[in-house]
Amino acid sequence: MYRNKLIAKLRSEDRELLLAEGEEVDLERGQVLYGLEEKRAWAFFPSAGVFCLLAGTGSGAELGVALVGREGMLGMHLLLGAQDSAMRVFVQTGGRAWRVGVASLNAALDNSTGLKTLLLAQSCAVVNQIASSSACVLRHTVACRLARWLLVSRDLAEADSFSVTHEVLARMLGVYRERVTGAASQLQRSGLIYYSRGLLSVLDAAGLRAVCCECYAASCKRASAAAYLQP
Ligand SMILES: [Zn+2]
Repeated sequence: MYRNKLIAKLRSEDRELLLAEGEEVDLERGQVLYGLEEKRAWAFFPSAGVFCLLAGTGSGAELGVALVGREGMLGMHLLLGAQDSAMRVFVQTGGRAWRVGVASLNAALDNSTGLKTLLLAQSCAVVNQIASSSACVLRHTVACRLARWLLVSRDLAEADSFSVTHEVLARMLGVYRERVTGAASQLQRSGLIYYSRGLLSVLDAAGLRAVCCECYAASCKRASAAAYLQP
């Protein structure tokens, strides 16, 4: 039983090709999987956990542009032929992932149309998130964007409670920590979330959706590879 949804979807011969030299590894909260313009020779297929893609400027400002869980893969740039990542990728909520060397990934892609189709479809889902996050930051308030980020995190963690710090949320939203603390306090006073010692609990998901901008519902429709595959 494979918990990563892409691996689970593959035909068994394609799966064997991809995972021939792969191994499942534990990933700790805060661990950086890809640094900016850093060459790493692995792609990751999460079995559990939430992983964040951050876009940055040369001066160090960062914005979270996409979240990935066990529906996806990390290392999209390898799939597209690049050697280094234009985004930083780190572990928001700890978990596990299948780690596959770039040579194995390329060999599997050369020999499996099914794998290539699936991973390109998943890349479309991530590109959609990046585009949506970029537009969202222009038009929507920190409280709305925080609500969206928490709802997506909850979906990917598949749990109402997950570990995340205000520092991480501030980095994701591209704002100072005080603004996240203010927005989170507002959501907590409304009874939508509860935050204590690094553990955030969504108490009222429907209420959170009601205060969230429209970008959450729009991005949910295109959140996984399935949205881009031919029926
Ligand atoms: Zn929005």
